[in-house]
Amino acid sequence: MLNATPLFELRTVTKSYGKQTAVAPLSLSLQAGEIFGLLGASGAGKSTLLRLAANLINPDAGEVWMEGVKLELPSDMLIPGHPDIKIVHQDYHLSAMLSVRENIRYALRYYEKDYRDARIEELLALCQLQNQAEQPIKLLSGGEKQRTAIAQALAEEARVLLLDEPFAHLDLPNNRRLAETIRNIVTETQAACIFVTHHAADALSLAQRLGVLKQGSLVQTGTPEEIYQHPANAYVAGLCGEANVLDRAWIAQYFANQPWHEMPENKVLIRPEALALFKRPAAGRVEAQVERCIFEGSRYRVNVRLAEEMLVAYHSIALAEGRKIHLSPKNRPA
Ligand code: ADP
Repeated sequence: MLNATPLFELRTVTKSYGKQTAVAPLSLSLQAGEIFGLLGASGAGKSTLLRLAANLINPDAGEVWMEGVKLELPSDMLIPGHPDIKIVHQDYHLSAMLSVRENIRYALRYYEKDYRDARIEELLALCQLQNQAEQPIKLLSGGEKQRTAIAQALAEEARVLLLDEPFAHLDLPNNRRLAETIRNIVTETQAACIFVTHHAADALSLAQRLGVLKQGSLVQTGTPEEIYQHPANAYVAGLCGEANVLDRAWIAQYFANQPWHEMPENKVLIRPEALALFKRPAAGRVEAQVERCIFEGSRYRVNVRLAEEMLVAYHSIALAEGRKIHLSPKNRPA
């Protein structure tokens, strides 16, 4: 599998708008059945990269390849794109007055009726829309609309599925359901899927491989665990979760020989969940002060002042602001 020709490749693609580099030379390759998440702040180049991947816009340089074949440039084509690459835009265009079934049927209008009817049933099942099939789009939740847009994009079988911010505007239950749907689709169709998001939790939970995009460049790629636990720099650390990035020598005064993740410039990363807070002093604990304590549902987020530094930790119960607290690393492997 490792040596197999990738299903989909971007080879050193670049794109600028005037002096603005949207995508710096960037390469990416995906195998069949793989979900790649692209995480980046607004303006990082995510949408441009997706449009390049969809073969909708010409790169300034570089190439897009599918199954070992280089794709024709969009400018040389009558209709830019590629029949096997489907993109679901953020502002998907569904007909609000028509039902889910009718919207999917529209994408299959040139097909013979028996095939079309069978395919619609398949897509409704794949996208978990059987119960909404006859509902007009205007009555659907955001998640159901997103799943309908995906069903419509997949109406004609796709090898590559590109999703632009698929989780934008979804509440948590819809978010989970959509992620499960995408996983099922990719497993069943063995398509390659790239989704972009600016939201770390979505990227970490859905991607099998993750790339962090900054100013058009991939600053790090790896599994979500690798990127979360071993970020390449403070930017990546902060983008994919709450992070205490501290001077190594400074923290060593308090807790020597800890398995913190080493960062550039003599810094270390301590995730909040790697810190424990105690009301009582004991060996191995240092005294600190609670500055803020914010309820976040499943836990409290606590800002703790240790000498001149402010650290973030989590705690299971509320702590009064201003009180003394005792801080220690959690006993767990790096
Ligand atoms: P993201 O999707 O991560 O927000 P974009 O790909 O939309 O990022 O944009 C990347 C950079 O390219 C931004 O600085 C943006 O202003 C610029 N850009 C994107 N599209 C255009 C365009 N059509 N014309 C000019 N600049 C653009």
